[in-house]
Parts: sequence; C-alpha cells; structure tokens
Amino acid sequence: DTKVVIPIESIDSLSVKSFPLCMRQLHEQLRSAHHLKHGGRLQYGLFLKGIGVTLEDSLRFWREEFTKIMELDKFEKQYAYNIRYNYGKEGSKKNYAPFNCLKIINNNVGPGDCHGCPFRHSEFNILKNKLKGYGLEGQAVNDIVDMTKKGHCQIACSKYFDAVHNTGLDLGINHPNQFFEESQKLLKG
Ligand code: SF4
Repeated sequence: DTKVVIPIESIDSLSVKSFPLCMRQLHEQLRSAHHLKHGGRLQYGLFLKGIGVTLEDSLRFWREEFTKIMELDKFEKQYAYNIRYNYGKEGSKKNYAPFNCLKIINNNVGPGDCHGCPFRHSEFNILKNKLKGYGLEGQAVNDIVDMTKKGHCQIACSKYFDAVHNTGLDLGINHPNQFFEESQKLLKG
C-alpha cells in the first residue's frame, strides 16, 4: 500500500481547495467551536482517515480541539474510543469506509448539526453568503446555488470544484475523497 500520509498540520491549508464543501464546513466548525456532534465526527473522521491522516495524528487533532472546551479525562473517556473505532482499533475492528455522497446527502441532519451535504442541507441564502465569503466569483456562486435549488447536489459540488480550482473539468463528484484526490492531482500536476 503506497498510500500518501497527510500530516495533520497541513489540513488547514488543504481544506481551502482540496476539501469538498461538506468537509470544509466541518473543519471550520471544529476549529471555531472546538466540538462536533456525533454525525459530524463520524463523517469528518472517516474522511480524514480516507485522505491519509494517521490514527496518531487524528487523535492528536481531535484532542487538541476538544480539550479547549473540556477536560482531557472527559475527552479520553467519551471521544477517543470513537476515533480509534473509526480506524478499526476498537469494537468489531472493521475497516470502516469513508461515506460517499449518496450516504451523506441522504443523512438525517438536525438543528445544530454540521454534517450532511451543504448542497442539500443548507439554506440557500446561507450557502450563497458562505460561497461569497470564500471569495468565489458572482456568476459561479449563482450557478452553484441554481443547481442546489434544482436539487442537483453533486452537480453543484462539481461546479464548486471548478470554481475553487479555476477550471472547467465538470467532474462527476460522487465521493468526498474523490474530490480530494482529483484536487490534489490538479494542484500537484
Ligand atoms: Fe460533499 Fe458529496 Fe455534497 Fe460534494 S456532493 S459537498 S462531496 S456530500
């Protein structure tokens, strides 16, 4: 297995272009609130594993954020297990696969949750402002929001990919980790 290892220190910068919006928003929420609810921890944790973040780096990353708002002891008792579980180190020791778009789009997302697909689960205005805030160009933002309104989440996601990479590849996006890999291919040439 020649899989690349992604150092956890690099994900702030990677999240800007190489993370799909669903993961970028989870990353930002974790950094700002120092917490994610269960659905978010699962969706984001498995994605990070999938891009090549090691278990050791993952544990350090979640611990550093969560212990800004809770005692280390609570983190170790209530949260560390699930991170090891995602990596197949606890419980049934299965090698859990990162979620694909279909699974994320069809997820139940409640108030206060940040997981799911922003092209399915965000309000249009919030989405629009977020994309503008990221500095995406007006026409691109409108195209993305139009597709979202029509219910075409994955096409909206492809347009988001093209907008952040300033390209017109029109990839079919069906997995957040595919988004990441295509982006890295493009950026590294
Ligand atoms: Fe994430 Fe897929 Fe939605 Fe894109 S279409 S934001 S990769 S769930």
